[in-house]
Amino acid sequence: MNKENSSLAERSDQVFIGTYARYPAAMVKGEGCTLTDADGNTYLDCLAGIAVCSLGHCHPDITKAVCEQAAALTHVSNLYYTKPQTELAELLTGNSFADRIFLANSGAEANEAAIKLARICAGPERYGIISLAGSFHGRTLATVAATGQPKFHEGFEPMPDGFSHAPFGNLNVLEAMITDQTCAILCEPLQGEGGVRPLDVEYLQGLQRLCRNHDLLLIFDEIQTGMGRTGSLFAYEQLGIVPDIMTLAKALGNGMPIGAMLTRNELAASFVPGTHASTFGGNPVACAAAVAVMKIMLADGFMDEVLAKGDYLQKGLEDLAARFPSVATGARGMGLIRGLVLTEKGIESGAEMVRKLFDKGVLINFAGNKVLRFLPPLIISREEIDTLLSALGEILAEYES
Ligand SMILES: *Cc1c(COP(=O)(O)O)cnc(C)c1O
Repeated sequence: MNKENSSLAERSDQVFIGTYARYPAAMVKGEGCTLTDADGNTYLDCLAGIAVCSLGHCHPDITKAVCEQAAALTHVSNLYYTKPQTELAELLTGNSFADRIFLANSGAEANEAAIKLARICAGPERYGIISLAGSFHGRTLATVAATGQPKFHEGFEPMPDGFSHAPFGNLNVLEAMITDQTCAILCEPLQGEGGVRPLDVEYLQGLQRLCRNHDLLLIFDEIQTGMGRTGSLFAYEQLGIVPDIMTLAKALGNGMPIGAMLTRNELAASFVPGTHASTFGGNPVACAAAVAVMKIMLADGFMDEVLAKGDYLQKGLEDLAARFPSVATGARGMGLIRGLVLTEKGIESGAEMVRKLFDKGVLINFAGNKVLRFLPPLIISREEIDTLLSALGEILAEYES
């Protein structure tokens, strides 16, 4: 039993730098919301590679796009044009506030591009970027400095200069932090890693007002919330706020590594040949996958289904919180990014609950050390949501007193 899983785990643990605490499964196959491990166990994937495989694993249209592009042209330098890149750029700018795009390979890289653009637009004296406590923006040095969680900074100080963190939800304190050096405010419309923490609309509108009044750029990190996760192509559309710069990654390529930084013409003009670049950014295979993703997400009714299933999951989670009040206090989120907020008592066992769900064949994670986070593929069925909810109910019952 579990022979292949444990053998792969043992071999990996001998040779990998230990940056990940992994569950004892080596995944070999994915289809829709189902993953299969090396010993043939199956899992209902309610994490989707952390908001990446939003159209489910190995969606046939995306597999086809990837295979065809890989057979035609896998890589060419950004010194030349390619069709998948062009199509993707047209689709993303044509369906957002943005006029222009820069393509990168990951979320952190997209945020790096946004930080560099904000700084170069503001000129030499203005380099300060204010982000929010509890935020997550990536693991490179600049993006980790922007991340408002001290645990990610520990051991890597000194952090790059120019990043400060405002307490969550307080506009007055944030305004008092703005100086002559500040050039931008960076935030997620809803904090994903921070524990599926929504920011209220008035607060976000306040941020936009501060940006206007103080001549700052508003950067939305939509790496986790973008690409349909919240029930619209981008979360900003539902909030009635238009950022100056937006970053995307995670679900953009449904598993192919790709990131993007989008902005308006006036700001984009500050980047010229030589100011920023990436060898792999805009890779044709990743772009072909992203074009296929966009076409599916733009089809009629897609977002309505995400919203309806998001409500269904929310109601199910609220019911569980009502049934097990000593471990869970309620549910929150938008669309199909949802969190079950645990009580003090529940928090102690959050990681263990995730492990017990894993043992039952359901994959979720524990975010911000306080919330059980659900990020299923957007194509999840109501029956699959029911499977998740009933497995979760069995686990919560073990902790209810
Ligand atoms: C995942 C994430 C990132 C980092 O993306 P990587 O691809 O891991 O570099 C940045 N910001 C947010 C909001 C994220 O969720």
